[in-house]
Amino acid sequence: MNTLTEQQLATLKDWMAQRKSRLLDEIREVLARSGNAHHAQQVSEVGSMGDEAAARLFRDISEAEVLRDLGEVRDIAAAEQRIADGRYGLCTDCGELVSFERLKAYPSAKRCMPCQQRREKTRAPSPYTGH
Ligand SMILES: [Zn+2]
Repeated sequence: MNTLTEQQLATLKDWMAQRKSRLLDEIREVLARSGNAHHAQQVSEVGSMGDEAAARLFRDISEAEVLRDLGEVRDIAAAEQRIADGRYGLCTDCGELVSFERLKAYPSAKRCMPCQQRREKTRAPSPYTGH
């Protein structure tokens, strides 16, 4: 089976951990500046909270840049969970390996390039099930 090498995986994991902590720092800064520091604790847990708790937190936050960053933190946390589960790097649509080039550009990518493009082209529900 075609998979990422240990080294490639370690590189991506490292990159995501750094990116996540940078995003969280940014988020805490913005929240402190806008007088919403009380959200900071929840924000630190955003990667591990359930969808409902996250939705509640997102509703409480009005800063667009924080919402965007939080979304990315959750994407990264989901990717880290896929690493832990051994599913990382496999397309969630077709199960093929997502190319290392794509993962380098977008480590939290869930889909391979062809599936992503197909999804973006067909925003309406696809009449095809499968390939
Ligand atoms: Zn795919």
